[in-house]
Amino acid sequence: MSMIVMKFGGTSIEDAPSIERVTDIVRSRLNMRPVVVISAIGKTTTNLLTAATLSAAGNGPDALAKLEEIRHYHFGLAKALVKELRQSELWMRLTANFEELRKLFEGLTILRELTLRSQDKILSYGELISSAIITAAFRERGIDAVLLDARDFIITDKRFTHAQPIEEITNQKIKDHVRPALESGRVPIVQGFIGSTRERSTTTLGFEGSDYTAALVGAALEASDIEIWKAVPGIMTSDPDILAGVHTVKAMSFAEAAELTFSGAKVLHPSAIHPARLKAVPVHIYNSRQPEATGTLISACAAIGTNIIKSIAYKRPVSILNVVPSQRISPYDFLKAVFDVLNRERITPNIITTDEASVALAISASEKLEPLVDDLNQFGKVHITNQRATVSLVGENIRVAGDLPTIVFKNLNGKHVDMISHGASPICFTFVVHESEVREVIARLHHLFFEKLDPNIFE
Ligand code: ASP
Ligand code: MG
Repeated sequence: MSMIVMKFGGTSIEDAPSIERVTDIVRSRLNMRPVVVISAIGKTTTNLLTAATLSAAGNGPDALAKLEEIRHYHFGLAKALVKELRQSELWMRLTANFEELRKLFEGLTILRELTLRSQDKILSYGELISSAIITAAFRERGIDAVLLDARDFIITDKRFTHAQPIEEITNQKIKDHVRPALESGRVPIVQGFIGSTRERSTTTLGFEGSDYTAALVGAALEASDIEIWKAVPGIMTSDPDILAGVHTVKAMSFAEAAELTFSGAKVLHPSAIHPARLKAVPVHIYNSRQPEATGTLISACAAIGTNIIKSIAYKRPVSILNVVPSQRISPYDFLKAVFDVLNRERITPNIITTDEASVALAISASEKLEPLVDDLNQFGKVHITNQRATVSLVGENIRVAGDLPTIVFKNLNGKHVDMISHGASPICFTFVVHESEVREVIARLHHLFFEKLDPNIFE
């Protein structure tokens, strides 16, 4: 049965007019049999986390005030969208959910600790509540929506806060739970981001995890399209927050999109590409504020075009760790020891370079560096350079652009480059510069690579 997945992020549903817009978008695609995946509304995930942190710090009154804000916001939306709210199932559900949250927060204030497991439980309410509101709003507007519970079919390991779905079970359960709803002609509404362990503890897939849910559902049901609706036009040639005049990339390959998300582009959850790619289900990024716009199509056989690269991503701040073996440790043991430490601390460096006598690692400063450095100090001397950034150029044409490094460095105007990674990925060229120079470096390269645009690829 042919079907599509439509995922809406928090900013696409942040107020009543946005939700009206989303309703129209879904209605325009009813003939394609959509499954709708929903994030928490607006900044609810962050707000719940703030309230939980306040509770666990023993600050009960502020936590409850924050919760009251969240409650007020959601009830306000529900009132704006659903007539006779007090008589509705939605009213009962919201009342019950906020009561549960209040009890959870009171518990945290007594316990004075927020475990990762409780954190996931609390954050899940963002999506549980938003999906209930959307279902009621859709039904009131004539869409035969049915609310499902993602925890019945997104089955994960126990890594709370960044749980990994167990693919085989999840695939089967998605088929068992979502397909019947579709087959009965209804529009299933599913919470993004949340899942459950086999023992039925609530887990989450990590921030922005709703994209991942959409991809899992789309892949399991072999959707004809996975539509990710955001409040931005699509994947851009670079980050519009740091550079004016960027363009939408209309077409890109799965490999390009994956490289970009791993290199810091915030437009998709890094894991979302994988399931779609396995089943060759195209992923479309659309702008919910401009539903007619082209957006970005990510697919297996995307057109490549004439520009050398598709987009420039960056990560900052980044730290460089230079590690030199301190004892008489053989080069083989030294390299193995470094990788063992990375494995133990579950850190993936952005770049690694090595020679016989030393290793350099570029690591996002968001990673916990202290335990890593302590471990490395057991067998090596670590020198840390902070306030750096990685800049990554991504594009399938890099495979054939032999002189890319020359072109890039000629245009950096003598800017100091700390590290380079070229060749590890055939479609990504990454280097490290000072954090304060990112904007200028990207502006120069953007001008260089996107002055002339292939109209088939960019808009
Ligand atoms: N609500 C979650 C977050 O804000 C998941 C998502 O939006 O994708 O990260
Ligand atoms: Mg969100």
